Amino acid sequence: MESILISSCLLGERVRYDGKTALCEHPLIKRWQQQQRLVPICPEMSGGLPCPRPAAEILGGQGDEVLSGETQVKTRQGHDVSNHFLRGAEKALSLCQQHHINIAILKARSPSCGSSNTYNGQFQGTLVDGQGVTAALLKSSGIRLFDENQLPQVEAYLQQLESDPEAGPC
Ligand code: SF4
Repeated sequence: MESILISSCLLGERVRYDGKTALCEHPLIKRWQQQQRLVPICPEMSGGLPCPRPAAEILGGQGDEVLSGETQVKTRQGHDVSNHFLRGAEKALSLCQQHHINIAILKARSPSCGSSNTYNGQFQGTLVDGQGVTAALLKSSGIRLFDENQLPQVEAYLQQLESDPEAGPC
């Protein structure tokens, strides 16, 4: 049975920067929890950041540019927290390798977990196309990314993987 990496805030853990949760109560999440498929991680806390913590954004919004050292993740006050984000991304990847994970459900729009959009680093609520740091590392390692708004697509992909294991991750 395929395991799924999931942002731990979606399971109700109070790990967000503001000390809150982003609990997702969709029945599919409950079913996967009962099946013990879900492997939770908060990359920012795994990378050594506290909770609560200052909000941070990627300058320019591109997690792959943080991975390559071309840009940084900074708080509104200008403190560079890139190393924490990079460490958290590495820990998420190691968890995927340890559990042979091909699928991740990551919280939308986060500078770590966002898989389609992130904020642009200006702290004005402006989204750009791009991935958070963890999302970018997992994607580059062949893990298929979804967010909490794409759970039926996750279910379809799981069925595809489990009926035809040769299909593999794309
Ligand atoms: Fe949730 Fe990811 Fe942010 Fe942690 S880093 S609070 S798991 S979105």
